[in-house]
Amino acid sequence: MPKFVEVAIALPIDRIFHYSVPEILSNDIAVGKRVFVPFQNRTVVGYAVGFSEKADVEGVKSIISIIDKEPILNEEMLKLTRWIKDNYFCSWGEAIAAAIPGGIKKGKVSLGERIKEPNIKVEDFPRSKAHVLTDEQSKALKSVLEAIDKKEYRTFLLYGITSSGKTEIYLQAIEEMLAKGRQAIVLVPEISLTPQTIERFVSRFGANVAVVHSALTPAKRFLEWKKIKDGKVQIVVGARSAIFSPMTNLGLIIIDEEHETTYKQDDVPRYHARDVAEERAKLNNCPLILGSATPSLESYYRAKHGEYKLIKLTKRIDERLLPKVKIVDMRMELATRKRIEIFSKVLLDAIDKTLKNGKQAIIFLNRRGFSTFVNCKRCGLVLKCKRCDTVLVYHFEKKKLICHYCDYTIQPPDICPKCRSSYIRYFGLGTEKVESEINHNFAHARIARMDSDTTAKSGSHDRILNEFKNGRVNMLVGTQMIAKGLDFPAVTLVGVVSADVTLNIPDFRSSERTFNLLTQVGGRAGRGEDGGEVIVQTYAPDHYAILAAAKHDYEKFYQEEIVSRKELLFPPFINLVKITVRARNEELTSKTASELALAIRGADPAMKVAGPAPAPITRIRGYFRYNILVKDKDRLVMVALLRKVLPLFKRPHGVLIAVDVDPISM
Ligand code: ADP
Ligand code: ZN
Ligand code: ZN
Repeated sequence: MPKFVEVAIALPIDRIFHYSVPEILSNDIAVGKRVFVPFQNRTVVGYAVGFSEKADVEGVKSIISIIDKEPILNEEMLKLTRWIKDNYFCSWGEAIAAAIPGGIKKGKVSLGERIKEPNIKVEDFPRSKAHVLTDEQSKALKSVLEAIDKKEYRTFLLYGITSSGKTEIYLQAIEEMLAKGRQAIVLVPEISLTPQTIERFVSRFGANVAVVHSALTPAKRFLEWKKIKDGKVQIVVGARSAIFSPMTNLGLIIIDEEHETTYKQDDVPRYHARDVAEERAKLNNCPLILGSATPSLESYYRAKHGEYKLIKLTKRIDERLLPKVKIVDMRMELATRKRIEIFSKVLLDAIDKTLKNGKQAIIFLNRRGFSTFVNCKRCGLVLKCKRCDTVLVYHFEKKKLICHYCDYTIQPPDICPKCRSSYIRYFGLGTEKVESEINHNFAHARIARMDSDTTAKSGSHDRILNEFKNGRVNMLVGTQMIAKGLDFPAVTLVGVVSADVTLNIPDFRSSERTFNLLTQVGGRAGRGEDGGEVIVQTYAPDHYAILAAAKHDYEKFYQEEIVSRKELLFPPFINLVKITVRARNEELTSKTASELALAIRGADPAMKVAGPAPAPITRIRGYFRYNILVKDKDRLVMVALLRKVLPLFKRPHGVLIAVDVDPISM
């Protein structure tokens, strides 16, 4: 029996801790079990990750108790979490904590809450059988099955336009897995975990499916986790964290809509589920399928260069054509009409026609609220957030001015707080205003709005979609929430009120995001027999992202975008690490950031270090933020360098430093 147990603790301290094991516990201690340990005068949960003969400090304390009868982490999970620690600048304990359900992080053995209702009721779902595959689909499935048979790691990029039958391929590949007695994980973006998606899987595989997402109570989450761990289900469908499902015989991982940004965790550990999935597939010698109609630049680049195997699906299942897209130049609208209107004549006519034909329309604007800024006509004052460098957005229903970054809220003033005049005016538009404008223009429209304001209550998301599905509502207005996955055959019109919202975000991915959103939201039109039309309003009608989206031409977009990525040295040509320095005092923030950049440059003069520069929105919640960007081909090299530099760096009191590997926003 080795003398000491190595314990990982979920704290931002980049090391493991040694503890001795009291005689009476020595038979029960094992790697992968949780233990209670004394730590800085507290008792905390730790994870036993190894044993050693020597301790690295004097006066080693002993563990207090062992929580688990059986290890909760197996060898694979230990390897995977160690990989996360090495790649994402966090401690091993933090990586482990992210990989297990919330309840058991706190050291609970079992969760007390009685589960009255199962997570999904299989009886509620119709049964479905496999389709006979098209030629394209068969070929795609065949290459995946070959990898499964050979038990080899391989990443496939399944690039298929919307409705080309990707999901059917997932389902049939999973069927093969089950026949071989192996298991599958399917990741979908949180937002797509709608009844529509879940139904696809449950109606095919029944009670063999576990569904995990963030809306589950901790108790239900734990129950699903336990079911998976005990081998009671063979398929997991879930959001990002489902990649850590405790399966022991994994044969296939699928990531649908692989380009989605929700696969990146924005808290420590800031992992990307796609990369974790790749690592897990390697550990299991199994294939990984990445599916998308608009692959991320990174994935398509890798597929083009042979790192991934590219599978293309070019036809829609029913041979239905992609909808026609019309771009409306709002600069011309501005010139020909007297005042700025929300809807162009073209879009107004199209809505009118749609409603007269008894069809449905989706109107998309990726900004919520009513007016997006409020300003005094006399002195020019714009009402800003007290804590952030942002303007306050007027919300009509709440009758409040709200900051979208910190939720700071005030009453709309009747008179200007600065010059006391009453010339307060409201400008800009969000989804609330779009809704009210439609109401104003079309008396017979029955409108529902879907954005994070109307879906805050649980169940409201499904309720709105149901009303649209059964036709009680004929117009759906919303943010990116309505851009994805919805399949409503009666939708013949999709209107994009402004394509410029995402285009104007100061981020190297803004073109990619705009192209993706337009393609996705456009794909909601014309899924039925009556075909469909997409109308895109923009002040930048010549932008390549908008032009390519209008032609459904991913390849064209990729060719343009990849050139600028290469020129400016951004992913996929390098990996990025973003280091954000935050403090309440701007001078201190900027000074500390400069010193840190200097320290990094000093430690490795060859490393490409840009900045520091103020973040696009410099102040949020009273904290000033300055970014340093480190660029290199090898993520591990950068993380290792920062592991050396940061612990030695003298961080002034009140300054916070966050490290984000492969950031998805600037
Ligand atoms: P995607 O995931 O690419 O959007 P889906 O797999 O959802 O595409 O397929 C679109 C529609 O076509 C679904 O309703 C699906 O049931 C149906 N479908 C898929 N494959 C076939 C097939 N081989 N034969 C008939 N219908 C199919
Ligand atoms: Zn004023
Ligand atoms: Zn704010």
